[in-house]
Amino acid sequence: MGDQDGRSSTSASREGSSIVITLTDPGLLDCPICCAPLTIPVFQCDQNGHIACSLCCIKINNKCPFCSCPIGSNRCRAIEKVVESSSTPCRNIKYGQTCNIPVTYNKKNEHEKTCVCSPCSCPYLGCMFVSSAKELYQHFSNDHLYSARRILYDRYGGRAYFPIILKKSDSVLVLREMKSDTLFILHNRIEVLGNVVTVSCIQPSFMDYFNYRVYVANDDDKSVLNFQSVTKSTPSLQVDGPSPIWSGISD
Ligand SMILES: [Zn+2]
Ligand SMILES: [Zn+2]
Ligand SMILES: [Zn+2]
Ligand SMILES: [Zn+2]
Repeated sequence: MGDQDGRSSTSASREGSSIVITLTDPGLLDCPICCAPLTIPVFQCDQNGHIACSLCCIKINNKCPFCSCPIGSNRCRAIEKVVESSSTPCRNIKYGQTCNIPVTYNKKNEHEKTCVCSPCSCPYLGCMFVSSAKELYQHFSNDHLYSARRILYDRYGGRAYFPIILKKSDSVLVLREMKSDTLFILHNRIEVLGNVVTVSCIQPSFMDYFNYRVYVANDDDKSVLNFQSVTKSTPSLQVDGPSPIWSGISD
């Protein structure tokens, strides 16, 4: 990518002891063969300085694809130092204040796959708000407070039960957990034999599950089911929850 008149350039400014450098060509720190961010060691071909990551050197049988020179024994220390000392903001910075620690360029993808600020969608019907799970909790508390049921989660399996009355046709209920600022979704789906009730947690899908226990009773209190499961983490409402609970829920 070049600047407005088509030339490629860099700009630099000092911030404390580090120098902030802007790369106008974002591919500069990528391996020119596999196009993934360069990992150390980086090798250069014997005569012309073409570079490749170590995995690519093996794949190309140690023969430079640009000039056919041997490649794989000479390290390119200069570019290794640039890779090591580069940092880049996480792309999720816009979704949460907490992800403000820059990551090295070659760890960027790794970090973003497990970043706690990954975007989650507001479960309120028609609302387009997208943010980190923590910001989403705040948004939900501010804008849709009365559409959620408040709960307190007891991580240690205590006796904190919260009675919830569901109609057969109620398909989704948002549960607002106030100790950990977490949103849960109670799903209720009508099936042939009864209703399927599951609980999921609105957070990035790689995040830890919560244990939960559900007691289901009919109007007459006679058909009682007791079921234990774990939440599925989902960044949006569309994903189904884990193993179902069959119950007879009143009309
Ligand atoms: Zn490569
Ligand atoms: Zn070469
Ligand atoms: Zn991040
Ligand atoms: Zn919303």
